[in-house]
Amino acid sequence: MEHHSSNFIRNIIKEDIETGKHDKIITRFPPEPNGYLHIGHAKSIVLNFGVADEFGGKTNLRFDDTNPLKEDIEFVNSIKEDVKWLGYDWDNLFFASDYFEEMYNRAVLLIEKGLAYVDDLSGDEIREYRGTLTEPGKPSPYRDRTIEENLDLFTRMRNGEFGNGEKVLRAKIDMSSPNINLRDPVIYRISHATHHNTGDKWCIYPMYAFAHPLEDAIEGVTHSICTLEFEDQRPLYDWVVENCNMESTPRQYEFGRLNLTNTVMSKRKLKQLVEEGYVDGWDDPRMPTISGLRRRGFTPEAIRAFCQEIGVSKTSGVVDSRMLDHFVREDLKLKAPRTMGVLRPLKVVITNYPEGQTEMLDAEINPEVPEMGIRQIPFSREIYIEQDDFMENPPSKYFRLFPGNEVRLKHAYFIKCEEVIKDENGNVIELRCTYDPETKSGTGFTGRKVKGTIHWVEATQAIQAEFRLYQPLILDEEMNEEEEGKSFLERVNPNSLEILKGFVEPNMADVKAQDKFQFFRHGYFNVDPKHTATDHLVFNQIVELKSSFRM
Ligand code: ATP
Ligand code: MG
Repeated sequence: MEHHSSNFIRNIIKEDIETGKHDKIITRFPPEPNGYLHIGHAKSIVLNFGVADEFGGKTNLRFDDTNPLKEDIEFVNSIKEDVKWLGYDWDNLFFASDYFEEMYNRAVLLIEKGLAYVDDLSGDEIREYRGTLTEPGKPSPYRDRTIEENLDLFTRMRNGEFGNGEKVLRAKIDMSSPNINLRDPVIYRISHATHHNTGDKWCIYPMYAFAHPLEDAIEGVTHSICTLEFEDQRPLYDWVVENCNMESTPRQYEFGRLNLTNTVMSKRKLKQLVEEGYVDGWDDPRMPTISGLRRRGFTPEAIRAFCQEIGVSKTSGVVDSRMLDHFVREDLKLKAPRTMGVLRPLKVVITNYPEGQTEMLDAEINPEVPEMGIRQIPFSREIYIEQDDFMENPPSKYFRLFPGNEVRLKHAYFIKCEEVIKDENGNVIELRCTYDPETKSGTGFTGRKVKGTIHWVEATQAIQAEFRLYQPLILDEEMNEEEEGKSFLERVNPNSLEILKGFVEPNMADVKAQDKFQFFRHGYFNVDPKHTATDHLVFNQIVELKSSFRM
């Protein structure tokens, strides 16, 4: 697809293939279906599918659905949709819950080997016994239960004889290991909850640290790519694969997660924004979710190019979110038709234009791509322009309309402001102008020059439209708000959405959901998929035309 920027994981895979360690690689993208995917997940998707594609391997989409309380089929469906929309096709679709029986059997095997035991300590007690980085842990009083007793208790856990939290199954590894993850981690817990896939079949569920390596091994995954916070879990990952006698040996590799300025990225926080009504759903155009970016108007091409560009490294940096904007501009520059829209309308009457007359003017659909052809736009005696394209008492260097000044109407004529009409409060409500028929655009008029060009929409045929302009949802750029005891909710920008009612060209009557346009001077906009009726068109601003950001 796109260029494959070099990264250390790709280099490892390349070497594994060159040395014959693997002839086919298998990667996986393993989301937990407890929320919608976000741009951080896109980085993982692009990496996992990208390297498999490049080296002729396979990628599984696997739902890591081992925590029934938080998971839902709604999330499963949205994740599938988002991965496809990003342009990727999984080779297999798997659910961790399909392996519950096998995982259970592997846990039994650990018990039989004397490598797992049922513990009656509470969660708090387990934490207390675990010790700290400087102190070794101490063994649970239940650590030396016999294999028979453990097998019996584990069977009874499965059969539902105990309540939530009454017992857990722990791996028996090393209570004094310098790696706290190896101090007898919990590998099964009791949870009497209905699972979206297995219903009420199970009341014990494997913990992530036990389940994940088994899932990878069962599927024959060769390179299990995850984010940096799992680095300390790698010894446990390897322990599970080895001691559960798994045939295949996946290897875990960690990379830095993506963080963006002015954004929160964890599903837990995004869920909070949705549930507490700060945004209008997971797909609110201000959200960093894939569905939000899609509704805002970002394209899969732009998101993929962004993910390639940021690359993959061993550290998690913070990327300027304007970099993502840059890639959508680059993508839409040649694709999006140009059009004119007036966001804050001011009526202009062209007094010397014949009443009742309308003419059609030619306008390029995209001057950078002449093959896209021309569109025709009506012009008549009444038009709308932007309120801020007129000033009654302009400062110097203001080249747009003011009394006595002449400007060019894009694709049309020069007009000159002759008279300003105000309401009883002194607000400007209409301008009277004259036009010069000699100055028609495209006729090569060279008689005189004007400094300003403004856009407009013919008033009688204009279509009413709503424009939604966005500012970052999260205000400052501190990343460690929790350490400071401050909730990220205090950083939610109260002015992240501005709604304007204006007008668009009449040829916008047949736009479809997700159509994208470059509005002259206003930037790129997307037709909101939830509002496509011609009597209530909504355009979401994707990005402005220019940004201060330089790559
Ligand atoms: P969150 O903290 O947002 O809930 P998660 O890591 O719990 O994210 P999962 O559904 O478990 O979400 O993630 C699926 C995959 O996506 C994992 O391999 C994870 O490492 C990766 N991933 C999640 N967030 C990011 C991120 N910000 N940058 C890169 N990869 C990410
Ligand atoms: Mg998670």
